[in-house]
Amino acid sequence: MRVSERTLTLMTGNEAVARGFWEAGGVVAASYPGSPTVEIMERLKEHEDIHAEWAMNEKVALEIAIGGSFAGARSMASMKHVGINIAADPFMTFTQIRTKGGFVLVVGDDPGLSSSQNEQDSRFFAKFANCALLEPSTAQEVKDFIGEALAISEEFGMPAIVKLTSTLCHSRGEVELSERKPPQIEGFVPDQSRYCMLPPYANVQQHFMQERLAKLRTHGNASPLNRYEDSGRRDALVITAGLTYEYLREINPNVSVLKLGLTYPLPVELIKEVAAGYDRVLVIEELMPFMEEQLLAHGLTVEGKKYFSFTGELNSDRIREGLVKAGVMAPLEISAEVAPAVPRRTPMLCAGCPHRPVFHILQKAKATVIGDIGCYSLGILEPFEVLKTNLSMGASLGIIQGMAKAHKTAGKAKPLVAVIGDGTFFHSGLSGFADIANTKDNITVVVLDNRTTAMTGGQITPTTGELTGEASHIISIPAVLKSFGINDVTVADQFEHSKTRSVIVEAIKREGLSVVVVTRPCALNFRIREPHYYVDREICISCRSCIGVNCPPISMQVYEGYDKKNSYINPEMCVGCSVCSQVCPVKAIKKSSQAGVEE
Ligand code: SF4
Ligand code: SF4
Repeated sequence: MRVSERTLTLMTGNEAVARGFWEAGGVVAASYPGSPTVEIMERLKEHEDIHAEWAMNEKVALEIAIGGSFAGARSMASMKHVGINIAADPFMTFTQIRTKGGFVLVVGDDPGLSSSQNEQDSRFFAKFANCALLEPSTAQEVKDFIGEALAISEEFGMPAIVKLTSTLCHSRGEVELSERKPPQIEGFVPDQSRYCMLPPYANVQQHFMQERLAKLRTHGNASPLNRYEDSGRRDALVITAGLTYEYLREINPNVSVLKLGLTYPLPVELIKEVAAGYDRVLVIEELMPFMEEQLLAHGLTVEGKKYFSFTGELNSDRIREGLVKAGVMAPLEISAEVAPAVPRRTPMLCAGCPHRPVFHILQKAKATVIGDIGCYSLGILEPFEVLKTNLSMGASLGIIQGMAKAHKTAGKAKPLVAVIGDGTFFHSGLSGFADIANTKDNITVVVLDNRTTAMTGGQITPTTGELTGEASHIISIPAVLKSFGINDVTVADQFEHSKTRSVIVEAIKREGLSVVVVTRPCALNFRIREPHYYVDREICISCRSCIGVNCPPISMQVYEGYDKKNSYINPEMCVGCSVCSQVCPVKAIKKSSQAGVEE
């Protein structure tokens, strides 16, 4: 085909995953939202010929895709790196089974922690689970590797992981489009020895897993997924993969490169053959020495982590630094341009965010609050600093229990409060609630039901339909809690500030488990825009109580013709939630007759 006839377009890595799955004849896809992979599912949902769904959590998403694969359909689950921990239980057994319909697990790692609680290197899951691992470098490769992963999965009878990173997920590159392959779906053919992992069958699979890995390793030695680029220099060979390869090419160090696309199992024979022609071999990889340690174990003399950081993204500057340290590149003669200093700014809850009044109440109540994962994690930061722990999705319920037991044993029992959002409630909070239902300790849980998975862009939860009517099925959080035998459940509207304060304060005082479900929806996701509020500066006494609610439109400023600073509300930003007006002791904050100015 001539270049002019090719259909080229710009795509992010996430968009390329979706396109690759569609072109490869993918049929069933499921995910749980989490940065950096959220947009994969958003794009897949645009294809009517793919069943694409948001699941309750990553484990369920994986199980949905496993079901599709068992039925012979090409299937995919996508998630952020910490999601693989949730999905690990079914995944570790699924990988024992001879895969039927091609199966790919797309994982987005986050080196540098741009929006995650840890930096976890997901490549180890491929080794741990005995499955294939592919690492693309560009958007084009992302699209192509999805098809390759599905083909490998079917040919070798194993699931495949395609590992991306935040920058690759979100950056754009040119991608050549192709037609969709028609899906071939045989349907589920019962075979207990294949699909029932009881010990007699599972024991046999241990041998099968080793055999298929050996076959794939041999395949990898000749696969075009792995590419050798000879610079002519013989002093050093670099082995690398993923986006790191692109950064390396950007600084153009004039070294020979073995760029690996299939990084588990490593094509050891190929590596040995190529490495034999060089004085030394450097491995450049992000985070942990995954390839380096395997190559050392295979008897190769390689170096890597002593020159390249074990943390953060290996961008071109950091790779250059490592190569200079290793003596492979000369230091830059001209000093790099100093980037202009950007003022640091603490992330903030949105204007009219329904979590703000809850944090304000908990701060004033001086409660010890166990946090959880969601946009309400911002309660850790200034000015509230009210959440004292933050570990993983749904962990607040277990942590609060353990903490209460330890306090009691130490004779230091005190009321404890936990928060959890509606998305997290359904993701992994249910088992925690079942566990805590019968506690005798003084524990209060505030469920922040804003009807959406707000942190990742507003995906649905089982409570979304209460507001939009769109979701097919609505699950009532109080009804679920009551079915668990939790009777002390109160529902409050947190924009009724003083009422909610009394509800929460009273709940904290009560012995045993009390739950307060606060019900205001996310202002951003549902585009809530009421008439804005303004400050009557003739009444304002500059007490700064309204500043304490920390809403972005509110500031103190000098009005024209006055010397002293008074409170001011930017009408373009105010969404009219009324919370600031409720905390003003002199009623200086009033509702306007019109909505704020739309952006
Ligand atoms: S009413 Fe007050 S608290 Fe609510 S959005 Fe406007 S400025 Fe913020
Ligand atoms: S709370 Fe009321 S009186 Fe106090 S600064 Fe704000 S507007 Fe002025």
